Amino acid sequence: MTIYKAPLEDVRFILNDVIGASGLADMPDNKTVESVLGEAARFCEDVLLPLNVSGDFEGCSQDADGNVRVPKGFADAYADFCKGGWAGVSCGKECGGQGRPLLLNFIVSEMISGANMSFGLYPMLSHAAYKTIEKHASDELKKIYMPKLVEGTWTGTMCMTEAQAGSDLGLIRSMAEPLDDGSYKITGEKIMITAGDHDLAENIVHLVLARLPGALPGVRGISLFLVPKIFPDSGKRNAVRCSRLEDTTGIRASAVGAMAFDGAKGWLVGDAGKGVRCMFTMVNETRMMVGLQGIGVAEACYQNAAAYAKERVQMRSISGAKFPKQPADPILVHPDVRQKLLTMRSLTEGCRALALLAGREFDVSMRDADPKRRAKAADFVALMIPVVKAFGTDMGFDSANAALQIFGGHGYIRGNGIEQYLRDVRVAMIYEGTNGIQALDLVTRKMSQDYGRLLRSFVQPAVTFLAAEKDNKALANYRSVFLSAFNKFQMASLYVSTRGAVDPDEAGTGAADYLRILAYVALGFMWLKMARAAASKLAQGSAGTSFYEAKLRTADYFFSRMLPQVHAHYRALITGAKPIMDFPAEDF
Ligand SMILES: Cc1cc2nc3c(=O)[nH]c(=O)nc-3n(C[C@H](O)[C@H](O)[C@H](O)COP(=O)(O)OP(=O)(O)OC[C@H]3O[C@@H](n4cnc5c(N)ncnc54)[C@H](O)[C@@H]3O)c2cc1C
Repeated sequence: MTIYKAPLEDVRFILNDVIGASGLADMPDNKTVESVLGEAARFCEDVLLPLNVSGDFEGCSQDADGNVRVPKGFADAYADFCKGGWAGVSCGKECGGQGRPLLLNFIVSEMISGANMSFGLYPMLSHAAYKTIEKHASDELKKIYMPKLVEGTWTGTMCMTEAQAGSDLGLIRSMAEPLDDGSYKITGEKIMITAGDHDLAENIVHLVLARLPGALPGVRGISLFLVPKIFPDSGKRNAVRCSRLEDTTGIRASAVGAMAFDGAKGWLVGDAGKGVRCMFTMVNETRMMVGLQGIGVAEACYQNAAAYAKERVQMRSISGAKFPKQPADPILVHPDVRQKLLTMRSLTEGCRALALLAGREFDVSMRDADPKRRAKAADFVALMIPVVKAFGTDMGFDSANAALQIFGGHGYIRGNGIEQYLRDVRVAMIYEGTNGIQALDLVTRKMSQDYGRLLRSFVQPAVTFLAAEKDNKALANYRSVFLSAFNKFQMASLYVSTRGAVDPDEAGTGAADYLRILAYVALGFMWLKMARAAASKLAQGSAGTSFYEAKLRTADYFFSRMLPQVHAHYRALITGAKPIMDFPAEDF
């Protein structure tokens, strides 16, 4: 049986002492935040965690009439989720939501993913659908659909992928034919659609990319349509059905299906030909949420592996028996096991701090009164979305892999729950744009904007922080390691932007290394901030000494063993495109 405890102490530390979230518009006071997060933790630990393994074993099913059913217990858990108002935490008050910052939703999403990643996908897509409708749909559509998504009685989907169109949305073939009443007739098949059909909610709101007749080829010819499963006015079924459930490797309690639109009635969202741009409202939020899935699963894997390493006894420590009265020492004494645990822990905590800082800036970019502050925050978010998504999910998978290794053969056996983490989190590296596409997005779109304007949204605060903390003795050991990595990051940025401008293959072949360099340096910045806060708390004699001491020891590990990875990635990056692109296709 797996364990999971919501990482409330760490979240509290990041919110209050590292990123300072109390100034956000509509952020409740500390006492209310405590009670919201405490309640979310209880729901995740008591309701969602017990359904994780059983949901994986049972999976979703489809009856002879094509109706999709979720595993036992999920419908009740979802009803509890809606009753608790969780679907509307950061939705507008005018639609029945609580109007709280998205940051709170991010924190809750991480916890849900740590307890039960499959469950979390249903509300994740609904919330992103709500945001897309809020930003781009007509008032009439908003009035009908938003309050139901806020209640959670209707859920949302994101219908982009087709058999021939995955990363390349320009290849989409689904068609939308205008009808006399101003609506559209949608025809085509979407595949691998998460929450495409299920029995959790009364209705499903599909957001579908399709082409109008005579539309331009490529992405500029694609528009976005809202297609309900059931018409809200008549209660009749629309011509959309789940043509098959996909037999997925993991997240087996998430209903992922191929969806057939057989002349289904839909309504245009946003302007014609601007569908992909509108869909990116949804994609930007879900990419962050997917990064949080990686972090949530990594946290769960760490907790399980650390507990097991203390319990499981095998062989003696190489430096002599540590528990001579026992037949063998706990595997925690072995350097290889410790190293795996500390890698998991230092990256999970670093990624969480970065994701929550990006979450705070997400809110600032949407709610701050100062337009300049909003624009700066939007730059930081745009820069960090591919980093949080790709690095957070790579790290989630690596952590699941390390946890399985720590459990040895027991981790490989189904039912112990550990191999499930590996299968579940694997998809997070693929959907919402593969991690390869995230790296490409970073080097081709994000870096080049306005001569590196987005990069400056990270570089400037880091430089300001370093200057302000130059005499802080608590950071003395970390500062030079950070500066050396930061310097390599600047050199890598210059290399990719100048060489990439002349030869795009230079940008393409360096993309994954560059994303990792930025990720490690951004985590380094967060670890500096965390170390400063922990040292200051210890100096003040605040309660919770062991938490702050452990933070500083984890920082020691990060700066000595993880941040120097930047140098290896830099070395690989500057070897350039030649060894990769000159390899003849026929020799593969
Ligand atoms: C469980 C699950 C749930 C999903 N849920 C949804 C959903 O709800 N809605 C939805 O619309 N889709 C969904 N998808 C689809 C998912 O978004 C796609 O699988 C993903 O975008 C990749 O597309 P593809 O599988 O066609 O791979 P391809 O696009 O064929 O890519 C194959 C490989 O080529 C690489 N590649 C492609 N182009 C480039 C390039 N230019 N540079 C570098 N590398 C490149 C990719 O990184 C990848 O490694 C889901 C998929 C799964 C598995």
